[in-house]
Amino acid sequence: MTATSLAAIVTTDLTAITRGRFLPANRIAAAATGVGWVPANIALRADGHIVEDNIWGSSGDLRLLPDPDARYVTSRTGAPTPFDMTMGDIVELDGTPWSACARSQLRSALADFEAATGLRILASFEQEFQILGAEMAPAHVFSYQALRRAEPFAGRYFAALEEAGIAPEVIIAEYGEDQYEITSAPAEALTAADRCIAIREITREMCRLEGWQASFAPKTDAEGVGNGVHIHLSLVDTEGRPVSFDPEGPGRLSPVAGAFCAGILRHMRALLAFTASTPASFVRLRPHNWSSAWTWLGDRDREASLRICPTVEMNGKDPARQFNVEYRAADATANPYLALAALIRAGLDGVQSGAEPVVFSGDPEALSPEERAAKGLYRLPETLDAALEALKESETVRGWFPEPLITTFLGIKRDECLAAAGQSDAELCAGIAKVY
Ligand code: GLU
Ligand code: MG
Repeated sequence: MTATSLAAIVTTDLTAITRGRFLPANRIAAAATGVGWVPANIALRADGHIVEDNIWGSSGDLRLLPDPDARYVTSRTGAPTPFDMTMGDIVELDGTPWSACARSQLRSALADFEAATGLRILASFEQEFQILGAEMAPAHVFSYQALRRAEPFAGRYFAALEEAGIAPEVIIAEYGEDQYEITSAPAEALTAADRCIAIREITREMCRLEGWQASFAPKTDAEGVGNGVHIHLSLVDTEGRPVSFDPEGPGRLSPVAGAFCAGILRHMRALLAFTASTPASFVRLRPHNWSSAWTWLGDRDREASLRICPTVEMNGKDPARQFNVEYRAADATANPYLALAALIRAGLDGVQSGAEPVVFSGDPEALSPEERAAKGLYRLPETLDAALEALKESETVRGWFPEPLITTFLGIKRDECLAAAGQSDAELCAGIAKVY
């Protein structure tokens, strides 16, 4: 029997699970009015249960509209039919954006940012994951063997990502057990978030076909190494010229990029709910894990929550074009559209209020609380409950998003906190390893 090649139109929900509908691939180009979608789907928890106390109920209808510029296709995953995924926006039946669609929120944050500053945002998601359930020969961390032991897997993986148009850059054998990292080239922010999702799903598909499981969970083992999602950001003008770099600025940040970073740090405690969105996320965000634990803008320090990245200047390379900052307090339990929208809104607040960045080098734990406060270093929330409290307390951050989205997000996350209450770190990590 020959299988029909199916194309998916997908949306990524508030728990960062990508859901969608299939139709024959040859009909996708004509599906301009999309496929039906159900409002209450947005109140699903990652474990598939619907939050009982949600505002959507059983009524209402929406459309999931494919974005033709965001179709990712590759026949190289090894599956009998091509991987074919088009990112969608959820809209009302008359085509207006739906209030709880995260991708639409990113679109509007980007439009507002550009209208207010005349600038655009380039981004890239650097993602770590672990391969679970594989009977691979053990290999040293960062080693050549760790990359080669399942060949031709890594080469096929790269080819599939390339064919899908994701512009992969490098595959790294990371520090954790069977842990890898995949990076892709910077792109316009919406495309970067789309690629982040496509990378995850291609990775999962290819590992599944080998009989393995790819886990992007922030920690699969409480004692092990965390899987981070590092969000790289830089600013360009409408002609695409870089504007983040100034060799004379603090940390070589231009005034606008410095204010953007200061805005993120100002709101970071509340932002965390959108970037590290499950109880297990906070097992990763501890000091000395190379993740981040403080509101800290650091120059080339991997413990900083906002890290000014290095530039390569050999062979006459231009530092301005490479220069970017990396938000490290994110993981794959966060919806990438929502996380990016929140970061951009925070950055915009910094730019509009002329916020001043403080670049810190050193160990925050070596300072007294007063010294830390003088440098703007505050401990990040240590639990999801605390991050949600910070979000609830920040009228500014809540005000960046439509009320139905915030209410639904808080409802899901409150449920997840209740379910996690009393669980040890080991239980939290074991529980999430297979979900993400
Ligand atoms: N695995 C670390 C994390 O949880 C990051 C290591 C690195 O710097 O790439 O974010
Ligand atoms: Mg890494």
